[in-house]
Formats: sequence, structure tokens, C-alpha cells
Amino acid sequence: MTFATVDTRTSGDHADDEQARTLWGLIEPRFLALLSWDPNIKIVTFPADHPELGYDICRVTWCERPTRLWHRLCPACYQRWRRSHPLDESKDCLEAFVVSTSRTPARATGTRIEPCAVLGCPRAWKSSTTRLCTAHEYQCYQMLRLPLDQFLLRPETVPLPSFGICQVAACERQREGWGPYCRAHAAKWARLRGSEPDADEDHWRRTTSAIAVNGKVSLRGLSNLVVAQILYGLQERTRAGTATIDHQLRLVCNLVREGELTQLSALPTDGMGRSVRGLRNNMLKFIECVCRRTSERAPARTDENAPFLMR
Ligand SMILES: [Zn+2]
Ligand SMILES: [Zn+2]
Ligand SMILES: [Zn+2]
Repeated sequence: MTFATVDTRTSGDHADDEQARTLWGLIEPRFLALLSWDPNIKIVTFPADHPELGYDICRVTWCERPTRLWHRLCPACYQRWRRSHPLDESKDCLEAFVVSTSRTPARATGTRIEPCAVLGCPRAWKSSTTRLCTAHEYQCYQMLRLPLDQFLLRPETVPLPSFGICQVAACERQREGWGPYCRAHAAKWARLRGSEPDADEDHWRRTTSAIAVNGKVSLRGLSNLVVAQILYGLQERTRAGTATIDHQLRLVCNLVREGELTQLSALPTDGMGRSVRGLRNNMLKFIECVCRRTSERAPARTDENAPFLMR
């Protein structure tokens, strides 16, 4: 897939600003609340029990990825099933695959990061097993050799100051230490530097994706107009009864960020999968409707009779 090489993010285009203002005016607070939207965090959270935005969790025992597919396998597990049993699509074969397929070690998607278990400590836990940040883990298990519950009850166990937020534009995770990145992005940057010693770090920070978390999509690092376009497009397709799943939206956002595009319409469709292309085009259809109405000076539609139903 190729992108225009011009960095349109800094164009300061008046028409773009105007369109962003119009779209923000049409995005309803109750829809933003449904997505747990915080303008300071800029992460969309898909509500799991919503008819259009909800999802099931993949049936493979160790997999936690969302799916809306009939077989309740996530797309990656479905592909693995079909590749491993190309001639057998039977229910029995599917059931056997669900319980017997071995874990794919390279799969980090869905990794959940929580704050350290010490009350008020903003640093990220090192793992879900220890539930402590690196410094508290060292205190607890290396210095004091205490079980976690006893460590947490000590009056001397106090929160530590944050190292700040990861410098990757798309990421909202805590930095791991005095370095610029969270643990996952530090590892990604080290890998990239290993294979491409001349890689442009500033460009990488602006364009690399957030660490994927099930049910969540980062709109961080996208232009104000693209954020408005995505939220408005998602609102209108949801209102129209069209389902959306997190990985489709995540891919659209990642491609826009990677191309440093300031317009969703600038996202090329060549090489794009069918469902992601459908999402892009569908959101653009609603956005273009608004643009047409605005240029004709017609009043915007607000259909109060079409609520965002919860199951
Ligand atoms: Zn799966
Ligand atoms: Zn801590
Ligand atoms: Zn990060």
C-alpha cells in the first residue's frame, strides 16, 4: 500500500478545521459515553454487550480476541483452523481444534497492562502474575521476600512517581523507566534499530501503532479531523445498525497514522481487506453526506428516535 509523501498534518487547512468543527458538533455525548471516550486519552472502548459494537471472545481456550463471526473464532484462529484442516469444515473438527490447538507464542495482541497493585502507584505492572511494577517487584520479592498481600499491607509500601507516558504518539502506556518508551515499544524500537540502523526515530514515534488491546482502539496520534471523522462515522453506522469490530477500526486508524494522513478519504484502498475497505467507505459515506448538507446550508439531521440501544 502506498501513501502520499506530503505531510498534510501541518497544512492548517481551513476547510479541514471547519469540517472537524461540524462533525464534532454532530457527535452525541451519549455516543461518546458509550465508547467510554475521554478526550484526554483518545481511546475507543467497544462495549462488549452492545448489539452493533459488542463482541464474543474467541472460543480457542487460550485466545482472548474479540469476534463477531458465526463460528466464534477470531479471524486469526479461524485462518489457523482452515490451514490446519483444509479438507474438513465439520463441527466436530472445529470443536477438536478449539480445545487442542497450541498457543502461538508470538501473539502479543490483547496483552492487558494494568497499573501496579500498590495503591496509587501509576507505573505499569511487569506481568499479570506479579501485578507489581519493576521497582515494587524488586522490593517485594528480592529485598523483603514477602508474599504480595503482606507487601501491600506494609505502611512503608508507598506509590512511586510516574516516569511519564510513552513517547509513541499512539500509546498511552506508562514508560518503563527513564527511557522514552513503555516496555512494549522499547522492545519494538530495539528490534527495528537492529534490522534498520538508520531508522528515523521521530518518524517511527509518530507513525507506529499502539499496542493492540482487545476491545480498545487508540485514536491518539491522529489529526483532530480524522478523530472527528472516525467517531462520527462510527456513530452513524452504529445508528444505521451496522456492526463494527475493534480490529477493523484499529487497522483503519493504524493505516491513517502510518501514512500521516489528515483525511480519512486520503487512505488508499489498494491492498486493503474487504471488511476494512467496507468500513472506510461506509464511514466516508456518512461524512460526505454531512459535507453536502453543510455546503447546501441545510439543517443537520438529529434523529432522536434512533438511540444507541444496549442489549
Ligand atoms: Zn482466537
Ligand atoms: Zn509500583
Ligand atoms: Zn508505548
